[in-house]
Amino acid sequence: MTQRLYMTQDTLAMDTAVVRCSPREDGLFDVVLSATLFHPQGGGQLSDRGTIAGVEVVRVSSQDDEVVHVCERAVALGDARIEVCADARALHARLHSAGHLIGYCGEALGWRAVKGHHWPGEARVVFEGEAGMRVFEAQEIEAMANAHVQAALPRRTVVEGEMRKIGFGELPLNGCGGTHVVSSSDVGRIRISKVKEKKGQVSVHYELERV
Ligand SMILES: [Zn+2]
Repeated sequence: MTQRLYMTQDTLAMDTAVVRCSPREDGLFDVVLSATLFHPQGGGQLSDRGTIAGVEVVRVSSQDDEVVHVCERAVALGDARIEVCADARALHARLHSAGHLIGYCGEALGWRAVKGHHWPGEARVVFEGEAGMRVFEAQEIEAMANAHVQAALPRRTVVEGEMRKIGFGELPLNGCGGTHVVSSSDVGRIRISKVKEKKGQVSVHYELERV
């Protein structure tokens, strides 16, 4: 079982231990650590990138109770330094946190956030509402989301057993396994590029102005 330290800390480098390294059919290697800072792909967020003992981590996935790091070369078992790429982490955390802020806005307008996808270039939050509800305009929800950014709401983390919940300021907590900015102001200005209604669902597509 991998200890998932990215759930409770923002640290990007540490010493840990390689407990398994096995070759894959594609020539890469699956590496499992005793504890990791790497966020695996999931929950609508891309995985972290970085290095394990200086070897490039191509992608990271969650498999049962283990986090599997796909590495370019084999790494030795035992003590290893791991480093998460700060730029990729910051971009993914900002996009993901923007999704939380947009979720709050849609919910304040009476909609229910049902899905989030926070990949660069294709980020969106999907809402569902009651039949006949008025769909909001892009600029309406954009102004609301940017008010949350400007308010510099501090991130709140609550761990309840296996479940970790994240919220900003006094806004509601949501169970979530992703990585987040420390303050909503770190997201930077949000631009809502499109609000699309289809089969009772409303997709809010967004971008961040500062990449
Ligand atoms: Zn989250």
